[in-house]
Amino acid sequence: MATADRLSPWPQARVVVAGLGTSGFAAADGLMDLGARVLVLDDADTAGNREKATVLQLLDVEVRLGSGATAQLPDDVDLVVTSPGWRPSAPLLAQAALRGIPVWGEVELAWRMSLPDRQVPWLAVTGTNGKTTTVGMLESMLTAAGLRTSAVGNVGRPIVEAVLDEVSYDVLAVELSSFQLHWTNSLALHSAAVLNVAPDHLEWYADAAGWPPGATDPMAAYAADKARVYTDVHRSCVYNVQDAATQRMVEDAEVVEGARAIGFTLGIPGPSMLGVVDDLLVDRAFIEQRHDSAIELAKVSDVVPFAPHNVANALAAAALARSFGVPPAAVAHGLQRLRIGDHRIQTIAEAGGVRYIDDSKATNPHAAEASLSAFDHVVWVAGGQAKGTTFDDLVARVAPRLRAAVVIGVDRRVIAEALARHAPEVPVNVIDSVDHGAMQQAVEWAATQAQPDDVVLLAPGCASLDMYTDYAARGDAFAAAAKALTG
Ligand code: ADP
Repeated sequence: MATADRLSPWPQARVVVAGLGTSGFAAADGLMDLGARVLVLDDADTAGNREKATVLQLLDVEVRLGSGATAQLPDDVDLVVTSPGWRPSAPLLAQAALRGIPVWGEVELAWRMSLPDRQVPWLAVTGTNGKTTTVGMLESMLTAAGLRTSAVGNVGRPIVEAVLDEVSYDVLAVELSSFQLHWTNSLALHSAAVLNVAPDHLEWYADAAGWPPGATDPMAAYAADKARVYTDVHRSCVYNVQDAATQRMVEDAEVVEGARAIGFTLGIPGPSMLGVVDDLLVDRAFIEQRHDSAIELAKVSDVVPFAPHNVANALAAAALARSFGVPPAAVAHGLQRLRIGDHRIQTIAEAGGVRYIDDSKATNPHAAEASLSAFDHVVWVAGGQAKGTTFDDLVARVAPRLRAAVVIGVDRRVIAEALARHAPEVPVNVIDSVDHGAMQQAVEWAATQAQPDDVVLLAPGCASLDMYTDYAARGDAFAAAAKALTG
């Protein structure tokens, strides 16, 4: 399988698809298209999975659902295609590793399915935070330049689906998570950006690092997966000048001869960088005279909602777009046309000079710090599942901005203790109930602490699954409470 591509003899291959999520379904569909014999396994015998199974069975895919379905990897398997969230220690994947059977993700499958003759350039974005926003900006810039494109990958649309699409794309805007990158091995992208690297998903990586036993520490394993995106890039490796780890990844990457390192910065850019001068986003990388000049791409005010981290995201998106030859005017138009997704610094309500802002998508401390740093005085609503991360550094840095803080969810004490250690003067309310009334209590208390010109900011720094179905449901609960309160 090491060199398999679309033209390989797939009808001779038996492939197990591990997990029937969005990407598993797309992978099974893509493998059938190649002519492979496909078996899909998933322990969850839910109504949604049964529905997907019915569709796949019509295509002659074998599907086994229910408890125990994923306990044993069958004999005579040539390849396993796994869902990105599965841990390497999961029985199917551990058995595959022991038996020397390759494991790919849906991203790797999509890449192979487009080789050797249907290749569309991929412009990829990874990083701990800002991926979806940046990919949205990039897609908008590419579209403004008149290119046929689609935002795919971790944003929600499986890449396999785009590869099978009737539309022939000029270029794809690809969001890749570290989990997705973990299960790739042959990507060779046009250009790629790592936005930032901060602790997240360490529980998964503690497990991944433990399998095989004796492997590296979780944070290093997480960063190494992000760095894979640069391997074999042939045009531009985009890094964050303000995050030295991303620059080191580019320096260490094995790239194609001639590929360039392109930095982005919120400061004045040096040669081969994009950055900010006065109120303009400028390019000093993709112009001939980069040694002594720069050209305007867009205005800072084209970035909406304004927050320093969104300007950074816009610069990273612009670097990828410019690397593909997008003209400056299309960068500006792309930003002006875009509406960034809900639950990302979304203003919900305003009353008595206090704004209520939903950044439920801030699901780790690094994101919450970016979010808090965009405002001078904040009543912070935080909490949920901390995923093995800590809040000490975050609290120490944002303490001067905090008017008060209210913490909810299963790991509320992790945050409350960090506040007690590093911001002892800040009033803190710990809400012990974990039912749906908790958010309402939190918002009502936050309102009593806020002064005119403050914001009440939901930037949980945690995952939401302890109390909600997802971050959107958590944001909706915050919005409902804020609206009820402000009328
Ligand atoms: P991802 O797809 O990586 O989860 P999103 O674009 O959905 O990222 O943004 C998630 C959250 O991360 C935002 O709500 C914001 O709090 C924070 N964020 C966005 N961009 C950045 C950035 N460049 N640096 C730090 N935090 C960011």
